[in-house]
Amino acid sequence: MENKKVIIIGGGVSGLTTAIYLRLHGYDTLVLEKNAVLGGACIGWERKGCYIDGCIHWLVGVNPASSTYKLWKDIGALSPEVGIYDQDDFYTLDFGDNKVFTVWSDLAKFQAELIAFAPEDEKQIKKFCKLIKRFERIDAPVEKPVDLMNIFELCKIGLTMCGDYYYVNKTSKISCGEYAEKFKNPYIKRWISEHLSASYNFMSLLYMLAHVTAKHGGIPVGGSRAMVERIKQRYLSLNGAIRCNAEVERIDVENGVAVGVTLKNGEKLAADWIVSATPAEHTLKKLLGGQFPVKKIDDRLQDRKTYPIYTYTTAVFKVNEDMSSAPLSHRIHFDTPITLNKEYTAITYRNYSYDKTLKVPDGCSVIQATFSGNDDMYFWWEQVKAQGNYAATKQEVGEKALEVYLTRYPHLKGKIEVIDVVTPLTYQRYLNGRHGAFQGFVHTSKGKALMQKGVIKGLDNFIFSGQWILRSGGLPPAAITGRFAAQRICKKDKIKFKTE
Ligand SMILES: Cc1cc2nc3c(=O)[nH]c(=O)nc-3n(C[C@H](O)[C@H](O)[C@H](O)COP(=O)(O)OP(=O)(O)OC[C@H]3O[C@@H](n4cnc5c(N)ncnc54)[C@H](O)[C@@H]3O)c2cc1C
Repeated sequence: MENKKVIIIGGGVSGLTTAIYLRLHGYDTLVLEKNAVLGGACIGWERKGCYIDGCIHWLVGVNPASSTYKLWKDIGALSPEVGIYDQDDFYTLDFGDNKVFTVWSDLAKFQAELIAFAPEDEKQIKKFCKLIKRFERIDAPVEKPVDLMNIFELCKIGLTMCGDYYYVNKTSKISCGEYAEKFKNPYIKRWISEHLSASYNFMSLLYMLAHVTAKHGGIPVGGSRAMVERIKQRYLSLNGAIRCNAEVERIDVENGVAVGVTLKNGEKLAADWIVSATPAEHTLKKLLGGQFPVKKIDDRLQDRKTYPIYTYTTAVFKVNEDMSSAPLSHRIHFDTPITLNKEYTAITYRNYSYDKTLKVPDGCSVIQATFSGNDDMYFWWEQVKAQGNYAATKQEVGEKALEVYLTRYPHLKGKIEVIDVVTPLTYQRYLNGRHGAFQGFVHTSKGKALMQKGVIKGLDNFIFSGQWILRSGGLPPAAITGRFAAQRICKKDKIKFKTE
């Protein structure tokens, strides 16, 4: 019997994960990617001889003891040979006037630093750090979707995670802004409410900090581009097929069955299964023409306040100096606002000198200056573009961010230049996401946690996957949903799922 054919739309981490697992089960897989390179949001590129990493700030699952590590290993993303940079300083908060503290990955050191910075909050700081410690133990299972588990597997999860559920549930319902009010110190309040955004649920902040303090989160040496290259090589070693510059225009459906795709150039391709690993809104509205509504996603798309998106405007600097002694991530607050869609008084500067394998001219460094925002930032840039001022405004924003940086590093004057500026419009054009988002819906304290199967009632032989259907996105949800899509296909075709 001939192998079944599967077309996977989208060569991001999710699509590649599905493709690898399906190849392992004998399917003929073809990944169709609209861009010239694979990786989607997990990407790196070069300008003026400098490598610019466009993604990984911290990757969950770098610890071989964690459940996600096995998944990264299966798809070739991580292995014992891949070095991990364990950040010592996670980031440094700088409010001016020497009001500075660092979030250390050593929890005891971090607690001591916070208490020294804000002795009036000692009791609350200790409670906060205790919560981070509790979150270090949480290791969500990624083996298979809950609805494919048998009764024994469900009981095991119930027993191991019931204690975690209490903490997750409780902290999901509080926003970072609300939790910040528990502190007296105005800078700590500001940090907690602004770190992600005031409406983000507090659980997301704890989850992030706990992964860093438990060393479950780290940065693979070589960055995002190298990681995608390893995944690609793993797939090619299984004789998987890839076509880049192959944008899908629509999914072809006959009598409630997905039968193939039509590419933008008019070419038609048939398959037994279609997996769309593109952003959910693009899959449902564009590729399926809005014919198959999915309530959980549609409700979120219509409620921008409860389910906002998250995006960046980033200016990249080339510095003619080795910046290894500067903090990994330096959030600088300043007085004279920089106006984009609103007035910004803080920028995060990320220093890539920690990884000596990243390409830069000798003695140089790359710094990325990021303004974070929501879809209002996207709409603002859209307007700027419509007025014909896009290139000039990008340069202007980059120069202003550079001026702020020079307030802390004045000796760099004349040694630093803006070499690139990325806006929400860049992400939109590149990913077909939603309003420039590069992660899934933000999980606010008012929103419900998202877990979508990717199966659509009334549409057979089709599954959608990717970060937009699990929690609030990120690389692990991309890979997890990719694996789940392969498991669902195997289950339907009565093939026992294996990973070797
Ligand atoms: C600046 C930045 C920092 C980040 N930092 C982190 C981090 O530190 N840790 C972390 O875990 N995550 C981080 N992320 C998020 C992470 O990159 C994403 O969550 C993840 O890569 C999403 O993978 P995906 O495969 O689900 O989706 P995508 O990467 O969006 O992949 C979808 C793919 O589909 C393709 N596509 C779309 N439409 C079509 C079409 N019609 N035809 C063919 N192909 C199509 C797109 O080109 C894309 O390649 C960051 C992202 C960015 C941009």
